[in-house]
Amino acid sequence: AKTLRLILGDQLNSRHSWFSEKSGDVLYLLMEMRQETDYVRHHIQKVVGFFAAMREFTRELREQGHMVLYWPLDHPEQQESLTANLNWIIAQQKIERFEYQLPDEYRLDQQLVAFCSQLEIPSKAYDTEHFLTERGFLADFFKGKKTYLMESFYREMRKKYQILMDGSQPLTGQWNYDRDNRNKLKDPLLLKEAKTFPRDVSDILTMIEQQGIKTIGKIDPTNFPWPVTRQECLVMLEYFCEKLLPHFGEYQDAMLRQDPFLFHSRLSFGLNTKMISPLEVVEYVEKYWYRHQDSIGIAQVEGFIRQIIGWREYMRGVYWAKMPEYKGLNYFAHERPLPDFFWTGKTKMNCLRHAIGQSLKHAYAHHIQRLMVTGNFALLAGIHPDAVDEWYLGIYIDAIEWVEITNTRGMSQFADGGIVGTKPYVSSANYIDKMGDYCSSCFYNKTKKTGDRACPFNSLYWHFYHRHADKLATNPRIGMMYRTWEKMKDRQAILDQAEKYLGELDDL
Ligand code: FAD
Ligand code: SF4
Repeated sequence: AKTLRLILGDQLNSRHSWFSEKSGDVLYLLMEMRQETDYVRHHIQKVVGFFAAMREFTRELREQGHMVLYWPLDHPEQQESLTANLNWIIAQQKIERFEYQLPDEYRLDQQLVAFCSQLEIPSKAYDTEHFLTERGFLADFFKGKKTYLMESFYREMRKKYQILMDGSQPLTGQWNYDRDNRNKLKDPLLLKEAKTFPRDVSDILTMIEQQGIKTIGKIDPTNFPWPVTRQECLVMLEYFCEKLLPHFGEYQDAMLRQDPFLFHSRLSFGLNTKMISPLEVVEYVEKYWYRHQDSIGIAQVEGFIRQIIGWREYMRGVYWAKMPEYKGLNYFAHERPLPDFFWTGKTKMNCLRHAIGQSLKHAYAHHIQRLMVTGNFALLAGIHPDAVDEWYLGIYIDAIEWVEITNTRGMSQFADGGIVGTKPYVSSANYIDKMGDYCSSCFYNKTKKTGDRACPFNSLYWHFYHRHADKLATNPRIGMMYRTWEKMKDRQAILDQAEKYLGELDDL
């Protein structure tokens, strides 16, 4: 072969134009690498999921007649890093040209640019042909603006791709049904079984253990549940439309002890590894809805489509507009370490015990658990965003920096000072109780702000506003909160209670 084409672990897009022709001159390369398993401590299901999907992808490419070199983690020539491996392979195979697809991670992008600049053979970077926009689109779209309003970006995508549109107008006359997405789930009979793709991954797990890779979380090696092929992702999408879409929007923000997944699609892993594309997902859902309008309301469908062509695409744009500075932002100058119970789930706070417990068990939590339980707590408790990022980047099967950091540091921790969000997402027990069923069986009392067994969220909530008044009181969307706070009688007792809890975070 003359040309070497690198495929990273999150570039498993079998519909990429690279694969439309077969050539004896092109050698594709996939590698399992310590540099990727070790940059953060990952959930074991995440490492296994990536390797299983990469191996399946290799098998499929070979079946189609492409030449593929696959280096497992225990390949005897492993040189411990991407660039060292590439140098070795280029020399050994007498490669004359190097090509790659643009990485979604800043770290890998920099690494490959530097690598190519010292190469003696020609090189070329290709688009991944996955997203709806190019890397720099959002930065241009919001040029000169301080806050990047997701809704304007989302409408632009709707128009550009004619999704749920009637010409230049939204199909139903209304762009956004967010207000219909806020119901508590009261009827467990609506719940559906989670779609899984049971697979034996013992060989991969054994290799990971033999290599001494440090991971977190649990796995059942004979029953790995996640889709790891494009075909399985398509089955998952179909299952979503049939069983979950009818209630997706209305219960999008609900939380329930007995069900870690509710009506969520669990497509993020398939999307982020590029086994399926965002546009095909939303087009499929839109078509499905056209055929089932009598049984599925627009709010369910719009809510789902907004997450993908709105939030997901938007987060990617923010990442490329703001990296590398974004990684260092800490607007509130929060400094505390993450409490130990984030790694064990051992806390008396029922909401956190469930959200963290299911994350360790399934490498998954849905959006509102990530935002309003774990994220909310970390922000109220003043945890350093580096520590918060490290946790989110490791624990979820879908966590890749471009979408993890913008959600965590931006949306959830407001550490960007308001690029992604217009105000911090914080709440007391009130919201958690409104959307979920955790509080009724909690050690703490959801209605108490102070005293024995007072819910920590309640005092920490006011402590947060109080300690950041200089940064938040002038925000027009928050001013009201300060007027309420100033009128409250037991302010000092609430602050004292919060201080007490902050001094014993590990014991909560
Ligand atoms: P569904 O609820 O079924 O939504 C459908 C799809 O919409 C998802 O698969 C996802 O691709 C997309 N989506 C929904 N919300 C968002 C969002 N806010 N940003 C980007 N895409 C979105 N998502 C990741 O993919 N990787 C992460 O590392 C990640 N970290 C997060 C960290 C925090 C603190 C928060 C608050 C959110 C994070 N999210 C992340 C966004 C969201 O929580 C997950 O995409 C979602 O829970 C995945 O589950 P699902 O596929 O069942 O989603
Ligand atoms: Fe969480 Fe407080 Fe409710 Fe307990 S009472 S589940 S700690 S919000």
